[in-house]
Amino acid sequence: MMPCCDEPVHAWDQFRVATERLPTTLRCLVVGENPGSASTAYFYDEDRGVAVRTILLGRLHSARIIAAPTLNAFRAAGFLFDHGIRCRLADGEVATQRRLARTYSSPRANAATHLAPFIRNASAVWVMGYVARNAVAAACSDFPRDMRDIARCPYPMQVSEAPKFFVSRYLTRAPPEDVAAIFREFVAFWVRRSGDDAGPSNSAVQRSGARVARPPAADRRRLGRPESRRGSRLRG
Ligand SMILES: [Zn+2]
Repeated sequence: MMPCCDEPVHAWDQFRVATERLPTTLRCLVVGENPGSASTAYFYDEDRGVAVRTILLGRLHSARIIAAPTLNAFRAAGFLFDHGIRCRLADGEVATQRRLARTYSSPRANAATHLAPFIRNASAVWVMGYVARNAVAAACSDFPRDMRDIARCPYPMQVSEAPKFFVSRYLTRAPPEDVAAIFREFVAFWVRRSGDDAGPSNSAVQRSGARVARPPAADRRRLGRPESRRGSRLRG
């Protein structure tokens, strides 16, 4: 058993994320909350549907930040997904940790040391939800301990004091119009970081940056691309 929970092994290790999913160059670490309870499908479990993964891959693909809505394309574009708490927890325990995390007092998020090397290496970090925010603050002293509600203005946003961080609420807890707003802000953040020498710059990103500056429909016409059904459903 693990010392931190009663699982034999964390999903992170079970799905060999560190050996099979780590990008060559870490452009963006996406930090989620925790892998759910024993019955929840893990982000890197390709045999099962995962709501947050579907939204994330679909929207990043629509924004042309990744080449396809797949885990391989996610990795190829330099993305890695990890959780603030790697343990699976019962639903009640997750709710408790999330509540405590709002004031940076989740014991489990504060004990998370696994994020530190990825945060150091990543050009950009998407901090998604309260548990993620608490865990990132515990792992990185540069990250300011803002107590504001991440579901309200000025969130979602780039952290001005620590500009490689983008903070939003958790995608699956946001209504559709908020999800659209989160991605608008993330794409703008990504384009800004790509234009910066310290940012997640590469030629594909530069190209995507030029495109996402225009409205998606006009953009597709201009590029003479076939109208994709996924793209046409993109709200906002
Ligand atoms: Zn554990």
